[in-house]
Amino acid sequence: MPEGDSVFRLAARLRQVDGALIRSGELRGGPTAGRALGGRTVVGHATHGKHLLTRFDDRTTLHTHMRTTGSWTLTAPGRRLPAHAVAEARVRMAFEDGRTLWGIALPVVEHVATADEARVLGPLGPDLLHEDFDRDAAVARFAVRPGRTIRAALLDQRTVAGLGNLWVGELCFLRGIHPDTPVERVDLPAMLDLARRMLVHSATVPSAYQVTTGRPGRGTRHWVVGRAGRPCLWCRTPVLARDDVERPGSPPRRVWWCPRCQPIGGSATLGR
Ligand SMILES: [Zn+2]
Repeated sequence: MPEGDSVFRLAARLRQVDGALIRSGELRGGPTAGRALGGRTVVGHATHGKHLLTRFDDRTTLHTHMRTTGSWTLTAPGRRLPAHAVAEARVRMAFEDGRTLWGIALPVVEHVATADEARVLGPLGPDLLHEDFDRDAAVARFAVRPGRTIRAALLDQRTVAGLGNLWVGELCFLRGIHPDTPVERVDLPAMLDLARRMLVHSATVPSAYQVTTGRPGRGTRHWVVGRAGRPCLWCRTPVLARDDVERPGSPPRRVWWCPRCQPIGGSATLGR
């Protein structure tokens, strides 16, 4: 699932087109669908949370978000994309050197002045993957709603940017707290330090991508996420799960936890 570390890694990969001149291309989605991109040079890629910013030499920025459907593909000179993927393309950039970058099934595509990036990103919290991550500023954002569940607060990109369902599930496990624990009962600095350490590791170490247990084998990558009914990898108690509808009309999101390692109202110390 695309989370902050996924988009960070994607941006690192896409930097191979930084400096490339777009021979032809266009936007095929979003409010400026149909806009031509040819003649611009890509000058850089940046991220904030799960948002990707592709910057051009004319001081404009392409802002995209993959949510759960989107992806990016770079095709080598002379190679074609399958027809079904072309049909779903929302961004096409064909470079002078023959490579083509495709943004596929992207639900958010916006082309704006680079000076307006902050406005289109909206009220995002501090990014766990930015070098200047301000932990105290993030803690202050959590404290605004002390009665909210830690799960809801961590998923809310306005408190801290970069965490999705996978990381929130695993972080609650690793801190030994139930996902429904109120924010005011959580050691937020410790939670955020762990979140930052793990996200940076996942984003930058090739074999560690979204492996939270340190064991990259099949079935052992995560402590509780995706393990409903299977034994907790720490205590062997069967992992519990439920489906939460967080906003009316939105698809439910699965919540996993170990009832022994993460007791309701408790704060287990597991030495991890
Ligand atoms: Zn357990």
